[in-house]
Parts: sequence; C-alpha cells; structure tokens
Amino acid sequence: MMTTASKPINTLDQSLSPPQPLKKISLRRGIIYGPVPSRRLGQSLGINLLPTDHKLCSFNCLYCQYGWTKKVTFAPMEQLKNLPSVQAVEAALETALSVLGRDRKKIDSITICGNGEPTLYPRLAGVIAAAKHLRDRCQPQARVAILSNSSTVGDPTVRAALEMLELKLMKFDAGSEEMFRRLNHPAAPVYMGEIIAGLKQLKDCYLQSCFVQGRVTNADPDSVAMWIEKVREIHPLAVHIYSLDREPADKRIERVSRTTLEWIANEARWRAGTEANVF
Ligand code: SF4
Repeated sequence: MMTTASKPINTLDQSLSPPQPLKKISLRRGIIYGPVPSRRLGQSLGINLLPTDHKLCSFNCLYCQYGWTKKVTFAPMEQLKNLPSVQAVEAALETALSVLGRDRKKIDSITICGNGEPTLYPRLAGVIAAAKHLRDRCQPQARVAILSNSSTVGDPTVRAALEMLELKLMKFDAGSEEMFRRLNHPAAPVYMGEIIAGLKQLKDCYLQSCFVQGRVTNADPDSVAMWIEKVREIHPLAVHIYSLDREPADKRIERVSRTTLEWIANEARWRAGTEANVF
C-alpha cells in the first residue's frame, strides 16, 4: 500500500469543466514545420528527420497523436532510403530561418521531433551541429531541443549526440516494465532498465511524462508511486507532466484531469525531490 504526503485523489475522476474534444493531427509533410506554439517550448520551429508518409518509431504508444505505428522499428537501417541527408536538412533549415529573418519573426526553439522517434536517424550529431551553427547565425536566442522517447539513450553514440543539445526532453511514463510494455509497446529489444541507466548518465535532462486512464491507467496511486521511485533514481532537472491533448491511437484511453496531474506533480516534488510542471 502506498503512503502519500498528499491525499491521492480519485484517479478515474472527471474534470469539473466539460472536457474539450481532442483534435486530430496529421503527419508532418516536410523536413521543416512551423513555427508552432508549444506548451513547453514556446514558438518552436520543428525539424522532421523521418519519413513523411508514415511514422517511424521504436514505440507504439496507446496515446500517440499520429495513430498506430505500423511497424515498430528499433534499428533504422532498412528505412535509410527514406530519410533526408544532413545537407538536405541543413538547406531546408537555412531557408526556413531566412524566411523568419526576412519577416522579423523570433522563435524560442528549434526542435528535433517529427514523425516518430528522431534518435533513430543515424546522423543525428551532424544535424545537431548544423542546426546550432544556423541558430547562432540567424536566431541566437533560440534553444536547440529534442523530443525523444528515450529508447536509444542506452547507446553511448546517441547519448553523445544528445549531449550537444541545449534542451533534452526525454519520455518516461511508466514505473514498471509491465506498465512500460502496456502503455508504450516498445520494440522487443528495448527494456526499461536500460533506459533508466541511460537517462541517469545523460546530463541535465527533462523527463516528459504522459498520464492517461481507461483501458490502461498509469495515473493511479500505485503506478504513480512506482514511477516516482524511478524518477528519483534518474534525478532529472525537472519533470513535465501532461495528459492527452490530441486524439490518441487507442480510443479506449482518456485524458486525466488537471487536478490529477497537479497531484502527481506534487508527489514528484515531495517524493522525488524534483521540479515538476503540469502542461
Ligand atoms: S514515442 Fe512518440 S511518436 Fe512514437 S509512438 Fe510514442 S507518442 Fe508516438
């Protein structure tokens, strides 16, 4: 039984105000997209290193805004022919930044994200170096960031590339291997223990944690207690806590209320000793 500092609220609760309908989102159609307003990154210019006709991901999260992953992929080799070269990414970014400069628009971040898991892209370090160079020239106030699902963080080469970034937002939703498999459906060789070991070695990372309820629930007190134990072990700079904002792949899961998210954030602050923000 979990003992809590703050009383756990009913995690199958409903918001007091009627929930807004969840919007659908389509795959990104090119290498560069936006700038888009982001809850966590401000005005964010996105870089998509992945195919534009399907999602390329090592996970198949129940809550994915892009629908189901048709073929969960961990090694990207077979997909290489569909991926843009570093030069193509650099040229597309340079064009987008010069348009922003011409229009005197400032952005807060250049974010590597896109149609799936960006660290599957095999030349990530080259893209990051090019993005930082262009950022310094065109939008020096912007941070170069990544949204990753953490599946590759156990790989020292990927970790070295990630360390080049100013903002690393790393997915971490589950506190047990069982919950990890039920919620994120990782590719077979990806295990939570390796992810935790990799995240512990990554400097100054933020964890991004999505909480849902319904067919699978990771927002109940026991699941949250297990998640907090691991968060304390990883010791991130902060945890970003959120729920569904877009229509999920699995329609049988639901958004959890703001009240529940605030309770989870309080628990993380109190028990994991980490900064925690609800988005
Ligand atoms: S890691 Fe991200 S892109 Fe991949 S399935 Fe999960 S939510 Fe979708």
